[in-house]
Amino acid sequence: MKIETKCLHAGYTPKNTEPRVVPIVQSTTYVYDSTDDVAAVFDDPTKSLIYSRFENPTVMAVEDKIAALEGGIGAMCTSSGQAASLLSLLNILKAGDSFISAATIYGGTINLFAYTLKKLGIECIFVDADASESEIRAAFKPNTKAVFGETLANPALTVFDIEKFAKIAHENGVPLIIDNTFPTPILCRPIEFGADIVIHSTTKYMDGHAVQGGGVIVDSGNFDWTNGKFPEFTEPDESYHGTIYTKTYGKAAYIIKARMQLMRDFGCYPSAQSAFYLNLGLETLHIRMKEYCVNAMKVAEYLEANKHVESVNYPGLASNKYHELAKKYLPDGTSGVISFIIKGGRSAAVKFMDSLKLASNEVHVADIRTCVLHPASATHRQLTDEQLVAAGINGGLVRLSVGLENVEDILDDLRQAFAALD
Ligand SMILES: *Cc1c(COP(=O)(O)O)cnc(C)c1O
Repeated sequence: MKIETKCLHAGYTPKNTEPRVVPIVQSTTYVYDSTDDVAAVFDDPTKSLIYSRFENPTVMAVEDKIAALEGGIGAMCTSSGQAASLLSLLNILKAGDSFISAATIYGGTINLFAYTLKKLGIECIFVDADASESEIRAAFKPNTKAVFGETLANPALTVFDIEKFAKIAHENGVPLIIDNTFPTPILCRPIEFGADIVIHSTTKYMDGHAVQGGGVIVDSGNFDWTNGKFPEFTEPDESYHGTIYTKTYGKAAYIIKARMQLMRDFGCYPSAQSAFYLNLGLETLHIRMKEYCVNAMKVAEYLEANKHVESVNYPGLASNKYHELAKKYLPDGTSGVISFIIKGGRSAAVKFMDSLKLASNEVHVADIRTCVLHPASATHRQLTDEQLVAAGINGGLVRLSVGLENVEDILDDLRQAFAALD
């Protein structure tokens, strides 16, 4: 199936007389004919469903769809993007380990990596995503077990050179985890460029309608966990009657371990209802992503020619520093998110934003409706000035998430808000 068809059909194939639409299975529990049947499921939890803290048929249909869209062998949904980032790493790392992350990533992820994981004894080594190969190699320590980056960083909109990082991660025997939230698998499929694990905040374009939060972890099945660096995969898991994940589950070791160990213990699994809404969003994802790109390109060109605008950051523009990388990784467009710096810094940016009528001030991005956010006073408020610079944020920076309204209405709104600055 082509990707558009997968959006509609992957993950759920109803049989004779079954519902056409993925049903909402609103049940915490599943029944078995006998105690022996229950025992068998505990011996091999992949054989049947156990409990809705980590398995539900509605959610699993969506997991299979997203795995198909990304080209992975399996996926696990989480109740937020943050939970997906956390579990994707905890499935590999323990206290005393380190991992490398691009510095230009989502502000919430920086908090998780720099502060919360540190409290758990896990060190994040931040590197400049544009660093040379030798600088990135030099950042590895003997205890470094993973590399992390965002395909299209929120909100810096830097394009991550997936192949460069995949090569260096693999030379060091560790997996590359990619947060592919902004492009979605419609615009980029990181596994095709060597990523081992792909995660998303499904709260953004995948849901698309701003109706429910969620996340997902997708396993490519390509990483070799038996290379000696990952004993948790190759030695018996005492918490699961001595299961050796690589031996019992082969290529699916990572994603099954994530569910059977981490989701079992942390329980951040989405509800069936949430998965149902997410699935509705996914059905039209391929159409929406293309339209966001068309609208955003027109808005980016308008902003670039505007006298109040110091600079526009949209990798789709030929003038953008990341345009060449965007052509390689995001040939069909670079999403609806644009950031730009208004002349006059923080006060001008705030005045402009407060003058907008159609575009709303939201702590959200990738909504179906046009929305704006001032990163320095919102998502990146916790960061020090140095971290702000490292994350590519300026006081006059506005993050504009172009929606699916008629682009002329979006442009009219921007024009009248800029007029307030005259
Ligand atoms: C929003 C976001 C997250 C966090 O996801 P939540 O669903 O808000 O928990 C992670 N990464 C990126 C790139 C995001 O935009």
